[in-house]
Amino acid sequence: MAVQRQLVVFDFDWSMADNDTDRWVFEVNAPDVRRWIEDNEGTIQFTDLIAQALRDAHARGVTRAQLEHALRTMPFHPAMVRAITTLHAARKTTFFCLSNANSVYIDTILKDKGLAAMFTEIVTNPAEWAPSGLLALRRRVDPSGPQHACAVGCSPNMCKGDELDAFYTRHAPTYDRVVYVGDGSNDFCPALRLRSQDMLLCRTFGGLHKRIARDGGLKCQVKYWTGAWEVEEIFNKL
Ligand SMILES: [Mg+2]
Ligand SMILES: [Zn+2]
Repeated sequence: MAVQRQLVVFDFDWSMADNDTDRWVFEVNAPDVRRWIEDNEGTIQFTDLIAQALRDAHARGVTRAQLEHALRTMPFHPAMVRAITTLHAARKTTFFCLSNANSVYIDTILKDKGLAAMFTEIVTNPAEWAPSGLLALRRRVDPSGPQHACAVGCSPNMCKGDELDAFYTRHAPTYDRVVYVGDGSNDFCPALRLRSQDMLLCRTFGGLHKRIARDGGLKCQVKYWTGAWEVEEIFNKL
């Protein structure tokens, strides 16, 4: 059956982008804060950890301009820009970005690459610049309100599977095909919800690959990739 209505869902860090925003901005501007993140990961919820790292970097004088420059110069493969631009131009695909980074990081980079207008929605953690130049970051799921009930392993800040289902509800009717591009262990929960006609494009060196190998249970087709040029090849055949 011909696919008339297609959805492409992108994780951001190490999936659409070729590095991890949360770590990269500190590798560029404050390597000691980067080390602090490495040493404290797992002891504090990750979004809260990055919010604290941003406050620490701000306190020692890292500016908004420095953070924005780091974001614009973070590795982002030209083949990924082409892949999205070409598929978008064919007009049957909706693009949705679903990420545990934050709204400012993603907006800054997508605008710089000329991709921002191609995305129907970006669902991620909210962030905003304070007048002081501090980037204030919060969890998508407010820790003081009702929490999600994910049993697959999503972090408290967001269940990506729930967010994918909520997107489907906002954008009925059902898509003929969903293509999900991801790399991390937090992409496993939404991947479990993909159907037999859907496709998971799993990057080979992340937690998603390991989780699939360990737990399995996917209904969708899985294609493995390492470089963005391979995603471009797959997109060109959709
Ligand atoms: Mg990722
Ligand atoms: Zn989940």
